Amino acid sequence: MIQVEKLNKSFGDLHVLKDIDLTVYESEVVCLIGASGSGKSTLLRCLNFLEKRDNGKVILEGQEIKKDTHDINEVRQKVGMVFQHFHLFPHKTVLGNVIEAPLMVKKMNKEKATQLGRELLKKVGLEDKEKVYPSKLSGGQKQRVAIARALAMEPDIMLFDEPTSALDPELVGEVLETMKQLALEGKTMVVVTHEMGFAREVADSIVYMHEGRIVERGTPDEFFENPKEERTKEFLMSTS
Ligand code: ATP
Ligand code: MG
Repeated sequence: MIQVEKLNKSFGDLHVLKDIDLTVYESEVVCLIGASGSGKSTLLRCLNFLEKRDNGKVILEGQEIKKDTHDINEVRQKVGMVFQHFHLFPHKTVLGNVIEAPLMVKKMNKEKATQLGRELLKKVGLEDKEKVYPSKLSGGQKQRVAIARALAMEPDIMLFDEPTSALDPELVGEVLETMKQLALEGKTMVVVTHEMGFAREVADSIVYMHEGRIVERGTPDEFFENPKEERTKEFLMSTS
């Protein structure tokens, strides 16, 4: 579970996140949607401490993470992140990519890490690719490796920032299917996505952001069938 209270973030004069309050419960899947520039990626990056917030609280599994924490690496272990562009290590095999962090950060022994890596590759449907290098994979396969790699740290929560936006349309489905499986297994997830079908089907809760504020939050039914705010209605009209 992660709780955000009154979080603000500016880049110079640009106030990008404005008094964000957000709670994501254990095993909940939250889809974060909103127009380009509304602050979705910045919010995820503040949750993962890739970006330092100006003020406000972030509480992870009941523990407040101060903005000047010295344990950023520890926090990052608890918060997995998957990006639009996969950021795999090109000189490592698929299995090498997945076990890098358990070996280096968690100091897991090679045998145990390899076993974990193989289990995760199986989970994302790539058990036959462990010896392959990323350049030989399709975009959908690369993204599934990136998901396995994030899972290898056994994070409490997984953040996805438009994980399918860089993919050819025919490869989107396999990545969404992998994410849906994780959701069904009870992983706590925050997903920035333009895939409204996925949001509708998989999310427990939809959060709509506009100009740095959370304007509306609801179940998919409430959100898509009966949006309350004018802004949300306009957004839904523009996407349909
Ligand atoms: P998109 O849907 O296009 O990915 P987004 O909702 O993820 O958009 P952000 O990337 O969070 O939006 O950006 C929000 C605002 O903050 C934008 O105006 C962007 O230009 C600005 N911004 C983001 N990162 C930085 C940065 N490192 N320095 C300065 N401005 C930034
Ligand atoms: Mg973004």
